[in-house]
Amino acid sequence: MMNLDFDRRHLWHPYTSMYDPLPVYPVAGAEGATILLEDGRRLVDGMSSWWAAIHGYNHPVLNRAVTEQLGRMSHVMFGGLTHEPAIELGKLLVGLLPEPLDRVFFCDSGSVAVEVAVKMALQYWQAVGQPAKRRLLTVRNGYHGDTFMAMSVCDPVTGMHGLFNGVLAEQLFAEAPSCGFDEPWREESIDGLRGLLEQHGQELAAVVIEPIVQGAGGMRFYSPHYLQRLRELCTEHGVLLIFDEIATGFGRTGQMFAMEHAGVVPDIVCVGKALTGGYLTLAATVATGHVAETISAGEPGLFMHGPTFMANPLACAAAVASIGLLQRGDWRSGVLGIERRLREGLAPCAAIDGVRDVRVLGAIGVVDLERPVEMGRIQKRFVDRGVWVRPFGRLVYLMPPFIVGDAELALLTSAVCEVVEEELKD
Ligand SMILES: *Cc1c(COP(=O)(O)O)cnc(C)c1O
Repeated sequence: MMNLDFDRRHLWHPYTSMYDPLPVYPVAGAEGATILLEDGRRLVDGMSSWWAAIHGYNHPVLNRAVTEQLGRMSHVMFGGLTHEPAIELGKLLVGLLPEPLDRVFFCDSGSVAVEVAVKMALQYWQAVGQPAKRRLLTVRNGYHGDTFMAMSVCDPVTGMHGLFNGVLAEQLFAEAPSCGFDEPWREESIDGLRGLLEQHGQELAAVVIEPIVQGAGGMRFYSPHYLQRLRELCTEHGVLLIFDEIATGFGRTGQMFAMEHAGVVPDIVCVGKALTGGYLTLAATVATGHVAETISAGEPGLFMHGPTFMANPLACAAAVASIGLLQRGDWRSGVLGIERRLREGLAPCAAIDGVRDVRVLGAIGVVDLERPVEMGRIQKRFVDRGVWVRPFGRLVYLMPPFIVGDAELALLTSAVCEVVEEELKD
């Protein structure tokens, strides 16, 4: 049996107190859409380990890719050296992303990819002789990671800016996009952002935004028209556009990348999370040729970033295999099938007293409550029903692996409806 007492005393878990942490559930293994607990209980996974494990766990193709790469080398530095997994992955990303996004910088994690994107934007404006353009503009309810520049563009309230006041860069925030994904476009929903661009364009390096789906900052879906207008406004005001596709990339929203719902292309895009099918930590920041060449033509003529584990071969090999699985399978109809079943399965939640909204897009289903859930209690209720669902705040949500079976998905949605109902009664 695992030493949970040691874990409790010595290991920090995400966003957790070391004074009185909530219980953690020991995992012995995972396979397909199932997480196997040490005590033998099996949980159907509704989280894809935070958007990442799109093909499920212990996948033979991904296992083989990583094992074969391990037999060649697990890592070599990327300074002055290169390797096949990085080149293959670069080709795949350039092929999948819309033109002209074709200059790939590999990073270790999503937050670092955001740091790199911002650094690219800053070096870009230095190179063109406008160093005063160094602030960022974003919208409320965003989430971009936990490192400092990424945090500075997270929602100022849920991102706890107060805690790091005086240290965090002070960025500009427009209201969150209010026009829903399916709603007819309302131009006034971008008035606030336009006003800030007009007023501050001279000092702005970039707009940073999650396209279509605001993830950890509120699980909100917004209109593709917003992105089309945003692209026009950024071009008009001479501000770079950075899309954070770390949560949305690789099919989750029903398009390979969420930006494809709008048919717009940013100057820089960040991908991560599902990039390796959830196997290893890897992210990438991909810029247009124009951005990359401008940076390289300026002073010091180099892009100033280079992580130790840049383009880790094991992670790149996993990513190549994961993208290969997507390309060989029919991920799009798979995700649309999940969307349909999430809609049907979560619909009864809308009638529960205390539920504000139920929304579904692609393989993402969200039940938005009027008040925050009590984490320890609701977590146990889900585990007791044989599912792994981890709500945060007022949000109970599902984003299962794409390989989830019909019966597994039905168990997930019925568990959400039942647990939400019980939770709201207590
Ligand atoms: C998770 C996430 C990040 C941060 O990625 P990490 O790998 O956790 O550093 C950034 N942006 C978005 C939209 C995310 O969902």
